[in-house]
Amino acid sequence: MKKGIHPRYVLAKVVCGTCGNTFMTGSTRPELHVEVCSNCHPFFTGKQQIVDTAGRVERFTRRYQKTADKAAEKAAATAEKTAAR
Ligand SMILES: [Zn+2]
Repeated sequence: MKKGIHPRYVLAKVVCGTCGNTFMTGSTRPELHVEVCSNCHPFFTGKQQIVDTAGRVERFTRRYQKTADKAAEKAAATAEKTAAR
């Protein structure tokens, strides 16, 4: 390795701000703070939780509900038509 051009690689402590989980890894910084980790991220836990701050999940749920309602209405109308024949 060429001298004087590589950053110092140290053992780093990673602290998750959401669940408080800590683990060690290698980094050029001795301490890392993360907002979400493999211990609490919904992808790994399989549970939905509030990572969201701007109400985006809520907005999506509301929008999706509208679409689902429309589809149900359409299906009901088609079923009625079919029954009338
Ligand atoms: Zn975490």
